[in-house]
Amino acid sequence: MNKVRVRYAPSPTGHLHIGNARTALFNYLFAKHYDGDFVLRIEDTDIERNVEGGEESQMYYLNWLGITPDESPSNPKGYGPYRQMERLDLYQKYANQLIEAGHAYKCYCTSEELDEDYQKQIDAGHASTRYNRKCLHMSSEEKALKEQSELPFTIRIRVPDETTYTFTDMIRGEVKFESKDIGDWVLVKTNGIPTYNFAVVIDDYLMAITHVFRGEEHLSNTPKQLMLYEMFGWQPPEFAHMTLIVNEQRKKLSKRDHSIMQYMSQYKELGYLPEAMFNFMALLGWSPETEQEIFSKEELIRVFDEKRLSKSPSMFDKQKLTWVNNRYIKELPIEKVIELSVPYLAKEVDLSGYSEQWIHQLVALYHDQLSYGHEIVTLSELFFKETLNFDDEAQEVLTWETTPVVKSAFLNHLPEIWSIENLKETMNVVKKETGIKGKPLFMGIRVLVSGQCHGPDLMSTLFLLGPDKVKNRLM
Ligand code: GLU
Repeated sequence: MNKVRVRYAPSPTGHLHIGNARTALFNYLFAKHYDGDFVLRIEDTDIERNVEGGEESQMYYLNWLGITPDESPSNPKGYGPYRQMERLDLYQKYANQLIEAGHAYKCYCTSEELDEDYQKQIDAGHASTRYNRKCLHMSSEEKALKEQSELPFTIRIRVPDETTYTFTDMIRGEVKFESKDIGDWVLVKTNGIPTYNFAVVIDDYLMAITHVFRGEEHLSNTPKQLMLYEMFGWQPPEFAHMTLIVNEQRKKLSKRDHSIMQYMSQYKELGYLPEAMFNFMALLGWSPETEQEIFSKEELIRVFDEKRLSKSPSMFDKQKLTWVNNRYIKELPIEKVIELSVPYLAKEVDLSGYSEQWIHQLVALYHDQLSYGHEIVTLSELFFKETLNFDDEAQEVLTWETTPVVKSAFLNHLPEIWSIENLKETMNVVKKETGIKGKPLFMGIRVLVSGQCHGPDLMSTLFLLGPDKVKNRLM
């Protein structure tokens, strides 16, 4: 087998989206599994949609995830240039070859003429419209006149008659398309810029790409690409079209769906871990042979098997994302968790009055629960609030007749020296004095000082709240 070479080919139209990140990831895993190369190519021919900084942003978030290209615009290795807009002369050369071989022709029809004709086809009841081949059928005199006129033209492929394009998709198996369903499409636009389907074939061939993993929205582009491979007499790469990512309602993820964060930048901003995101995305449309769900990058590279890519849509399971991230955070040393979370806290609350040790203990209190850095802000709210809000469950505890009893007893026996040991002792004294124990005792105190029925270890919570806050909240 030739050396495996795959590519991730984003358009620099914005930040790295979860769908693209997954495409990059599967290409990367496949390449690394087979000791191959992972190439980054920038498909910037849709110049109106390109955004300033789009390419840098793609690179930045790929690197953040640990998906490092072996070749890219900034790290060329002899297959460049790696930006399509720097390859225009190459596309021109191959387009001319096709014209000479009779596989393509210049089309001088204006968009008004084309629209008019397409409208006629619609009015005549055609299900789909296609180019009427007016310029293909021009006489040689007409052609010569047009050539001299310097009118703008596109270059169209002459789609072969009655040809079936068959390929074996690595995920879907055999896929067939008929050429009669495809009109003569444009290879090069009037401005000299190639269309996606043309550029991608020239590039994949010249960059010696062996396998293409991409989204299923490109499945119907594949016959257009295959006809070019055939015309040039080139061996096409293997294709794998990955299924959609859907939301929890099983609807295709749309960029307007705000119930799911879809950009890597958003995850990074909130303090999700790149290793966890890498792990989570690998399970978005791929599954290992075993039940295992937590994998390091190295393990994923080792066990990745393209035959186990899913044939059905993969659901973006937010709970799983949280769970995977939590698993990774749990494994981190506390210093790392502090580094990850405290900056968020410092932005929301004034930490100047708290010692380093106190902050350390606070983070440690939530270490096991934390799923992303910013979450510390909501988790630890009870320590910083001026007034507590009691939810329905907590309100109910306030109505228990035991609650005011434990409250005043606890106030009466607050330890002089504030330590967890002494707080435990206070609890014991309250228990003895009031005869109240178990849930009515512990839940009563918890709700009074935190406003919540659930939370981290009660003694540590009391200790970290400190004598003033505890006293105030019990008054
Ligand atoms: N630039 C294309 C996209 O972002 C790449 C498609 C392909 O992989 O062929 O969808």
